Amino acid sequence: MASLTLRNIQKSFGVTSVLRDLTLDIRDGELLALVGPSGCGKTTLLRIIAGLDHADVGDVYIDDEAVDALPPKKRDVAMVFQSYALYPYMTVRENMALPLAMRRLSRWQRLPLLGRWWPGSAVLRREINDVVQTTAEPLGLMPLLDRRPSQLSGGQRQRVALGRAMVRHPKVFLMDEPLSNLDAKLRVDTRAEIAQLHRRLGATFVYVTHDQVEAMTMSDRVALMVDGRLLQVAPPQEIYDDPSDLRVAEFIGTPRINTLTAKPIDGGLEIGRQRWPLQIANSGNALVQIAVRPEWFELIEADKPALGKGVLQGTLVHIEQLGSETLLHVSVPDQKGSILARVHPARARNLHAGATLALATSTALAFDAEGKRLRELHWLQDRHLQVANG
Ligand code: ATP
Repeated sequence: MASLTLRNIQKSFGVTSVLRDLTLDIRDGELLALVGPSGCGKTTLLRIIAGLDHADVGDVYIDDEAVDALPPKKRDVAMVFQSYALYPYMTVRENMALPLAMRRLSRWQRLPLLGRWWPGSAVLRREINDVVQTTAEPLGLMPLLDRRPSQLSGGQRQRVALGRAMVRHPKVFLMDEPLSNLDAKLRVDTRAEIAQLHRRLGATFVYVTHDQVEAMTMSDRVALMVDGRLLQVAPPQEIYDDPSDLRVAEFIGTPRINTLTAKPIDGGLEIGRQRWPLQIANSGNALVQIAVRPEWFELIEADKPALGKGVLQGTLVHIEQLGSETLLHVSVPDQKGSILARVHPARARNLHAGATLALATSTALAFDAEGKRLRELHWLQDRHLQVANG
């Protein structure tokens, strides 16, 4: 177990700046999910932590010790990749034993046949085998120890890769999209297994993914990275409810948050042809982005005033019934794309495409033109404005 600190990390490949002054503190025993769009620099950052690559500027500390000068072997971190990187001609047992064999056996003791009889070899090999068995047990790998990787499913292979990382008892686990080669069902099972494993080991995990569901369900905190910069680091629910940047709000959440372009007017906002009694402090006259999660909308009767709420009138263009919920795609005049509302299936029972309907909300987030959050919002309970809206 260890804490991990990254200080002012910068990295470029040629003229391409990949990491831009990135600072992050990862707590002892924490599972931090590092998420962001493809190419934002996640893998590069993991490689710098592991010592497989070097930062141009900045430092990496493990437990307050600067490790920049240490080679990967000496850093006591283990990396698990999306490609399991198992040796196909070795059994599961041999694959898992390999990191220990490389550390503890001499060159001669590692020789395929002769090595077994080399002095001291038998005792060390027995000890290594004991560690492999103790690690394999909780991972459910005991019955598979003598199989080769080609005789395993994707999920089993990924567990072997995890086991191989675990045998050394590293201080920090670095995982680079470990589930991306698995099918949907196996992903769900394996992500629960990794989360349980993390709790059991109490080790520090940095888990890279571009799957925000994985990040939300597994982590203690999510670090959201865009273009080599961290936009926000916060617990999953906080990053969902209280994003500091529009890009964070848009990246986290399925279906995606709705964004509407709005113009501040006297006593509220103008969104296309609709007026919202929502006042934003210090926004001036500049256009703002209003973001509303699909479940923050409720379906109301068209043309009825909704005091203290923002209303969007539109045409229902598509209905998606998902069993436990229904998604309504609503086309709203002067807004690009359709607005998504998530409602209870009973509420949508008699709806059909082409119907005119109204969505209301009293929860919304506001962002300025650069995507920075505007936090001072007030819903006005002004009847005149509401009447004007109708
Ligand atoms: P993904 O989610 O697609 O795996 P990522 O966030 O992990 O992406 P990185 O693999 O860290 O992104 O790459 C960040 C940027 O750096 C990309 O534009 C990539 O093309 C570039 N890059 C990475 N490694 C090298 C390299 N060795 N030489 C040149 N450019 C590189």
